[in-house]
Amino acid sequence: MDTGTAVGLQSVGRTRTLGSPGTYLGIAAITWGMVLWVQVGAWTYHYSDPGDYTWEQARNFCQTFFTDLVAIQNQQEIEYLNKSLPFHGRYYWIGLRKLGGIWTWVGTGRALSKEAENWALGEPNNRRSNQDCVEIYIQRPQQAGKWNDEPCNRKKKALCYRASCQPFLCSQHGECVETIGSYRCECYPGFYGPECTDVVQCAKLEPKGVPMNCSHPYRDFSYNSTCEFRCPEGFERRGAGVLRCLPSQEWSANIPTCAAVTCPVLSAPEKGELNCSHLQGNFTFGSTCAFSCQKGFVLMGPESRECTATGTWTGDAPRCEAIACPVLSAPEKGELNCSHLHGNFTFGSRCAFSCQKGFVLMGPESRECTATGIWTGDAPRCEAIACPVLSAPEKGELNCSHLHGNFTYGSRCAFSCQKGFVLMGPESRECTATGTWTGDAPRCEAIACPVLSAPEKGELNCSHLHGNFTYGSRCAFSCQTGFALVGLQSHECTALGTWTGDTPHCEAITCPVLRAPEKGELNCSHLHGDFTFGSTCAFSCQTGFVLMGSDSRKCTATGTWTGDAPRCEAIKCSALSTPKMGQSACSHLHGDFTFGSTCAFSCQAGFVLMGPESRDCTALGTWTGDPTHCKAISCPVLSPPSRGQLSCSHVHGNFTYNSTCIFSCEEGFVRMGAEMLRCEATGNWTRDSPVCAEDGAFLKQVLAYSSGSALAVAGLVLSGGLIAFLAKRLSDREEKRKLLKPTSDLGAPGTFTNSAYDANL
Ligand code: CA
Repeated sequence: MDTGTAVGLQSVGRTRTLGSPGTYLGIAAITWGMVLWVQVGAWTYHYSDPGDYTWEQARNFCQTFFTDLVAIQNQQEIEYLNKSLPFHGRYYWIGLRKLGGIWTWVGTGRALSKEAENWALGEPNNRRSNQDCVEIYIQRPQQAGKWNDEPCNRKKKALCYRASCQPFLCSQHGECVETIGSYRCECYPGFYGPECTDVVQCAKLEPKGVPMNCSHPYRDFSYNSTCEFRCPEGFERRGAGVLRCLPSQEWSANIPTCAAVTCPVLSAPEKGELNCSHLQGNFTFGSTCAFSCQKGFVLMGPESRECTATGTWTGDAPRCEAIACPVLSAPEKGELNCSHLHGNFTFGSRCAFSCQKGFVLMGPESRECTATGIWTGDAPRCEAIACPVLSAPEKGELNCSHLHGNFTYGSRCAFSCQKGFVLMGPESRECTATGTWTGDAPRCEAIACPVLSAPEKGELNCSHLHGNFTYGSRCAFSCQTGFALVGLQSHECTALGTWTGDTPHCEAITCPVLRAPEKGELNCSHLHGDFTFGSTCAFSCQTGFVLMGSDSRKCTATGTWTGDAPRCEAIKCSALSTPKMGQSACSHLHGDFTFGSTCAFSCQAGFVLMGPESRDCTALGTWTGDPTHCKAISCPVLSPPSRGQLSCSHVHGNFTYNSTCIFSCEEGFVRMGAEMLRCEATGNWTRDSPVCAEDGAFLKQVLAYSSGSALAVAGLVLSGGLIAFLAKRLSDREEKRKLLKPTSDLGAPGTFTNSAYDANL
């Protein structure tokens, strides 16, 4: 309430003790609009008389007997009080005091506004610092009606007021406002009249097509009448749901309308399409939208949605999701690098494959997820790069560990050799990422033994299983003829690289030691050792002795000596024979006819010794002197007779002892004298030589006389001439028989002795 503009009459009642009611004057004023201010009651002032009170006592007094200490409303009120109240030396307390440092109207709890200040000049001065309560100078010579701050415990008169408003006033449609000595009604909006008994009227509502439900607290379609509007399901109200009749006689809003409920505008899902049918309007109650997706995408969510009465769509917004392919994973030992157009492993996704070092991709390098949810191609694999298959070295073994597959990247093969063999090359090889093996292929080489050589005078014959003089080699030693092996004959190269046994050697075969023969000496030359193979021993004998047996012996390969042990025998000459027609007598020192032997010779009668009478066997094995013989004593040489022939047989020599000579004569002649002469031991012929005398016809007689057989024998050996000669000779039968008959002195029968034959020639 704007008291500053209020104009009115106040009546003040006075009381000396507890206060007394006085008269009151009504005041009426038109403030604004239709509201009228009417004085209907009284607001009266009272003061304590004669008691003085502290501020607190004063307030208790007022509140006990009246309403409260006065609250100064305006200047008119001040003038009225200053005029109406009696002067009091200590003046009057009013309902203003300092609370929390702020001057406050205690009745309303409101702070003193600047405009309402009515301080006396120089006040408030708060002298002595506790002037917290306020007095009003009533009828003071100076500064009358003004305020002064005073200590609250000072005792002054209490200036009280009594309120005029009662609860039943203003028809309960307005606020009762105190005025000096009266009250006025400030009607609430929608009401008017002095006691606020009239209500404001609004226009009657007549909506079309919209159900309405009204309530009228005062009168139909008057202030505070409310009308509620509800639209059928599926439709929504456009406008206020409730209209209220305002104090201004206007409805709070226009009558609403009903419109189909709208749903949010739908749009096609990404990668999809939308197909809607609308009953009422675009995307309103009853609209139905169907969804579909592009190739390669599948609808996730409802196939269609309907706009419901609540303005929402049934179901959730579908999505077009790319058709999923099975999730791919990197191949073992490989990698996967995917680019996804629409989503992980969905339509349009493309995955590239690669392999780790040492592995090669088998299969497609990339795959694509098709619209059917299937990947192109087959799943590739990463296969370990293969190395060439390794094999065990000859005489060795292979032990491989394969990380990824037989003889592939990462495979490692260790090599070892059989007993007796040593690995040449790397002990292991590894298959690299390039498909090659590290290192070179190793070999198993037979462990080498020292090279053997043939022993002196011997031979070596080796058979090598694996290599010259290596493990398994077997060597046989042999010796040349005449030498014997000392040591093992056969040696083998062991797995340790050593030979079984020591190297043998060849020693010359020994023969028994030889000794010099008795009366002899021994002289040996040894090629290889004393009395061994090749040794040669020569034997010799002392003078006069001759070696019997081998003059030298050689030690043979069999350990035996050639020949027999020789002896030294006294030198032997050819045994001297007794001279023909003689005698000998020998004496022997060492043996028959040996060195030292002596022989003496003599001859028979008719012979004479020719040569030495004795001979000695010398140390040279020869006999001293020339051979001795007995020579027949010679007779004088005979000659054939004239016209005759001489035929001699010489037993010991021409015309020597016992030679016989037969004389014959030519045909026609006859011998005259002895036919035969003999050389006698005296060196004389037995007789004188005959002579030949003439005699014809003699030959024919001889031939006729001769026997056939005798002639045949003679014919075998004699020529015709001889036959003729013989025929002549056989003419004498006696002589013929003597001639042909064999004698002991003449040798074999039927033959002629040489001497006889020679003599006939
Ligand atoms: Ca003061």
